[in-house]
Amino acid sequence: MSADKSGVSADKSGVSADKSGVSADKSGVSADKSGVSADKSGVSADKSGVSADKSGVSADKRGESADKSRSHIYFFKERIIITNKKEKRMIIKPRIYPLRLRKLEALLRRLPLHHPKKTLVQDAIARTRAGYQGERSLDFHLNFIPPKDYLIINDLRIFDGQHFFQLDTVLLSKKFILILEVKNISGSLYLNSDIHQLIHNSNGKEESFPDPILQIERQQQQLTKWIEDRFSTTIPVEALVLFTNKHAILHLKNDKDSASVMKSEGLTNRLNKIELRHDTSQLTADQLNSMAYRLIQSHQDLQQNLLESFGIRESELLLGVYCSTCSAQMVWVKRKWQCSSCGMRFTDSHIQALQDYAYLCHPQISNKQARKYLGIRSGDTVKRLLVKLGGKKIGANKDREYEIPLPMG
Ligand SMILES: [Zn+2]
Repeated sequence: MSADKSGVSADKSGVSADKSGVSADKSGVSADKSGVSADKSGVSADKSGVSADKSGVSADKRGESADKSRSHIYFFKERIIITNKKEKRMIIKPRIYPLRLRKLEALLRRLPLHHPKKTLVQDAIARTRAGYQGERSLDFHLNFIPPKDYLIINDLRIFDGQHFFQLDTVLLSKKFILILEVKNISGSLYLNSDIHQLIHNSNGKEESFPDPILQIERQQQQLTKWIEDRFSTTIPVEALVLFTNKHAILHLKNDKDSASVMKSEGLTNRLNKIELRHDTSQLTADQLNSMAYRLIQSHQDLQQNLLESFGIRESELLLGVYCSTCSAQMVWVKRKWQCSSCGMRFTDSHIQALQDYAYLCHPQISNKQARKYLGIRSGDTVKRLLVKLGGKKIGANKDREYEIPLPMG
């Protein structure tokens, strides 16, 4: 995610919002999309306020007792994370439902029944979901890691000056850093690191994947350099490829590769061995914290325009509001959405429709656009629905656009 321009989120350590605002990435993101993320930060800042209130915890109220109990309230980006001694792990950046998956699901909902790209989108959803599920299953194994020794950061995407690099999970300790790269693939896997080839064999079908050892070595180099460039210190960076799928059978041509490639069940044991290799503290607690904060601040979500990447025009997408029960089109009748097929009536069915629009087309919508998109003739009705969404209003009168709030996490 790029800059949070609202400047909300400064925390106790004086960390301020990421001002880099860099949104360039390999896939060539346009200015349009950085607008999306800036707006989203605005939404999320509001949301963190809400969640803080809900939990009855505010920075001010907790200030004193927080110091005593060594609790920490971290404000960053979209949420406030509270950790303390009682909490099992020090997860300072939790894993959230991937934005790409939300966008793909929106795209699938908006494609006409027999659209030629439908299968491609469904395949992409399956792959992205498998990746996310693999990462989630790693979280189970992370439960067994000694809580006091590690800060855990999930889903980092960092710019190193030339390229972005992406890390599934990073464990930071005072003695070393460990990068975990997660693979959720079932079936037989044959890794030949001499020729940098990973072959996947499932039901007689062979498929080739990039060499994961090369991948983590690159990540190690990039993270090491990133740290050297920003901190006047070095710390050993270790990396592991973890295969999370129970049905994965690993075949390694070279025994030495078991040092960096394994099933995720063995993580805690392996971590114990890595700890033995690094018994000297390289960082103070303060240095460790500031390194972790800096990493989180530097994270930028990949802002993908799915219509562009799938080569689909906005005009090909379905307009309208659809029934959450039977998927048939709904019409606005007597202040409610009524399904044209099953007859169910709902008040909020337009919300998902508008979120689909935000994920795929534009983060804001005008009254006129919304009338066409939702299929409601009355400008007053549409205005009421748009205002009720609770997003920011941008511009005035006829040019006014309404931000469409999106769920975070
Ligand atoms: Zn229905």
